[in-house]
Amino acid sequence: MKALESQLQYPHADTLPEPGACIEVAAGVKWLRMALPFELDHINLWLLRDCIDGVSGWSVVDTGIHADNSKANWERIFADELDGLPILRIIVTHMHPDHIGMADWLCQHWNAPLWISASEYLVARLACMGVDAFSGEATVQFYAAHGLNDPKTARRLMIRSNYFQTLVPSVPEQYHRLQDQQSIRIGAQQWRCIAGFGHSYEHMALYCEALGVLIGGDMLLPRISTNVGVYVQEPEANALQSFLQSIDRFLPLPAETLVLPSHGRPFTGLQTRVQQLHAHHRERLEELLAACRERPHSAADALGLLFKRPLDFHQTTFALGEAVAHLHALWYDGLVQRQRDADGVYRFAAAPDGASTAQAATTSEPRRP
Ligand SMILES: [Zn+2]
Repeated sequence: MKALESQLQYPHADTLPEPGACIEVAAGVKWLRMALPFELDHINLWLLRDCIDGVSGWSVVDTGIHADNSKANWERIFADELDGLPILRIIVTHMHPDHIGMADWLCQHWNAPLWISASEYLVARLACMGVDAFSGEATVQFYAAHGLNDPKTARRLMIRSNYFQTLVPSVPEQYHRLQDQQSIRIGAQQWRCIAGFGHSYEHMALYCEALGVLIGGDMLLPRISTNVGVYVQEPEANALQSFLQSIDRFLPLPAETLVLPSHGRPFTGLQTRVQQLHAHHRERLEELLAACRERPHSAADALGLLFKRPLDFHQTTFALGEAVAHLHALWYDGLVQRQRDADGVYRFAAAPDGASTAQAATTSEPRRP
């Protein structure tokens, strides 16, 4: 990835905000970072100078996971970085715990509203109430149907039931709905919402033409490729196609747009990055199609092909979702056929009259096989 990264420009070079401090990246736009206890060890959050109903203050974009460390970090930001002004609004790009975890705490602390898309809000509410099937029997069956069918995996999936709730114990009871292409005024600037799919339910990026800034959330990361997975709630999703079509929506933005990603450093070169991501997934699809020509592959069979490093249990569950997403991209495009074998596992084999390239899989309209 190093060579690819060097094709992008990083205006702040290697400078990162210290814990509890900010770097101003555009007029009225501040960058802060919070630590995460995962392999992906940080998240970027943003403060936007705002004024609502005549009251000056700040809007926050994304919040960190719910943890004592995040609270301490926020307290230092409140003390040192807000110019004595309040936080007026909490904007959340999507419902993943590192983005929404501290939202309820912030909303209560400042008596400020949560702004988020409807899908992200509703799923977060369900998940933090324990309704969502991030674990349990349906999840076990989903993973088993894609080849992770050993009893140990089943046991570990069952005991992971409160994973989301530990990182997001609560979500505000009310929200203000963000919708695609909606224009919102934040302080002196207009920002436009750009919805994205394939990574989460209805991710909202924010673009400000006057500042030349795109808050890309998780949809456009400079170094790592965004997790794009199929999961139990929507087991037949064509998530990879949704994702690739979504990032194409950034292409018309000016080339000099400063992209503020949720992980990694602010960068310019968004058209280059979009093309890199297309190429990355196209290569994976080519490899996978070639393997499916040799013999039918389940998603579990494809893990070693797509991820050339050891994966722990948690990573394996995400990786399996990614493998299903890649197989589904080929399947929806008619390049592979799916069959459910006697052991209950879906295996994908190259279609007899399949095209020799996976190129079409990322460009054509969605359709059912
Ligand atoms: Zn995310």
